[in-house]
Amino acid sequence: TRQKSDVLVVFGATGDLAHKMIFPSLYAMMKRGTLDTPIIGVAFDAWSREQLVARARDAVATHVDAIDEAVFDKLAARLSYVSGDYRNPETFAQLRTALGQHQHPLYYLAIPPSLFETVVTGLSTAGIAATARLMVEKPFGHDLASAKALNAALHAVFEEEAIFRIDHFLGKEAIQNLLYFRFANSFLEPVWNRDHVESVQITMAEDFGIKGRGKFYDEVGCIRDVIQNHLVNVLLLLAMEPPASSASDDLVDEKVQILKAMPPLTHADVVRGQFDGYLDEPGVAPGSSRETFAAARFRVQTWRWNSVPFFIRAGKNLPAHATEVVVRFKQPPVALFDNGAQTPSNYVRFRLGPDIAIGIGARRKLAGDGMQGEAVELAAVDDGVGDMAPYERLIGDAMAGERQLFTRQDAAELAWKIIEPILDNPAKPGSYQPGSWGPAEMADFAPPGGWVDPA
Ligand code: NAP
Repeated sequence: TRQKSDVLVVFGATGDLAHKMIFPSLYAMMKRGTLDTPIIGVAFDAWSREQLVARARDAVATHVDAIDEAVFDKLAARLSYVSGDYRNPETFAQLRTALGQHQHPLYYLAIPPSLFETVVTGLSTAGIAATARLMVEKPFGHDLASAKALNAALHAVFEEEAIFRIDHFLGKEAIQNLLYFRFANSFLEPVWNRDHVESVQITMAEDFGIKGRGKFYDEVGCIRDVIQNHLVNVLLLLAMEPPASSASDDLVDEKVQILKAMPPLTHADVVRGQFDGYLDEPGVAPGSSRETFAAARFRVQTWRWNSVPFFIRAGKNLPAHATEVVVRFKQPPVALFDNGAQTPSNYVRFRLGPDIAIGIGARRKLAGDGMQGEAVELAAVDDGVGDMAPYERLIGDAMAGERQLFTRQDAAELAWKIIEPILDNPAKPGSYQPGSWGPAEMADFAPPGGWVDPA
């Protein structure tokens, strides 16, 4: 099963995602020496191979300061192109010819999800699916029923072990770092539980709006866009038990255990907001009740976490651009110093983006007479986020058959089940001013001790 893929087939090679992410990643892999297979683009446009190479060059040129010509030539030499409509079986017959002797393709569906079933069926009918892997782009459905239907369509042809659902967020360096920090250290484990942790909060703040993507955003909203997938995954990494090994399924198994222990949300667990001016954005439906901000309180009913609130909040047009986790510990049982004042508690802070840092909050004494202290943070700040982009890591992992950073069917469906009751609320969300931390209802909706706003 750990056979390396011997050819990469990119459906949607002429599309936007291929330009923004896939070609630059393939170039980076080529530069690093981690890509040595042919690459076949498949799309509708009647392009020549040369046109695809020109498009790839343009994609790389917009991402790197100076193209290394020798590297690009090696990439170009591996590229070929099959043009055709995915609804036409002839396209797949041509692809079969293009595959030649290669037995283990990775099919990367960088195309609209409405076409997944068509392509998967085409591959199967042409007899080129059996020993292949399949990588699909998100979204993995837009609710539980559509996620199940999508999975059923993929499973009609591919085994779950051969399916790689790509969520680039899981490929980020900071997310790997969070997992590493939790389980490469021993000092966290004794306090990482309901006896010591008061609350967990996860914030993903964007200080910009919807950037003209009103039509897309109005169908999706904040909860589907970042909470159901990205931020629930961060919660799982914080809450999961140590996996038996670092092997793919052991890790995902532990995440699934947490998802099973999380009851579905109710409307009382959520505050939804919409920034003032959203309804004037092009593409947004008149009177839309779509949320551009949401905060939710999750419960994790395990022995380790029961009664510890896990809060997630995210939104557009907030005062900061940052993704952060704060795990806050309980106060010391007796306030010996600071004239008996209850001092702010200890915490661990993970800064996940745009920069990466891990901080531990503590108190120390101020110099001088009297036992007065101040809050300090002991921090490890990464000076660079590394040069491996998530797409490079994830394409490499899928080629190698390494599943750890991909979304498994059961995890995707359980996450939908938890979120589904709050997804499409026809009630109007609370309005908020751009540049504020959400609607007025947020005044009464906070972890114990309050929200910690990222800088
Ligand atoms: P896109 O720009 O619309 O590209 C669609 C591609 O599919 C094009 O290459 C198009 O070929 C091809 N295609 C469509 N219908 C076809 C047909 N009947 N026969 C043959 N080829 C056909 O889409 P995209 O923005 O790249 O997005 C692709 C996937 O990535 C989607 O699942 C999306 O949700 C996901 N995604 C995109 C982004 C992003 O930033 N764009 C980010 C995250 C996830 P022609 O151009 O030749 O017609």
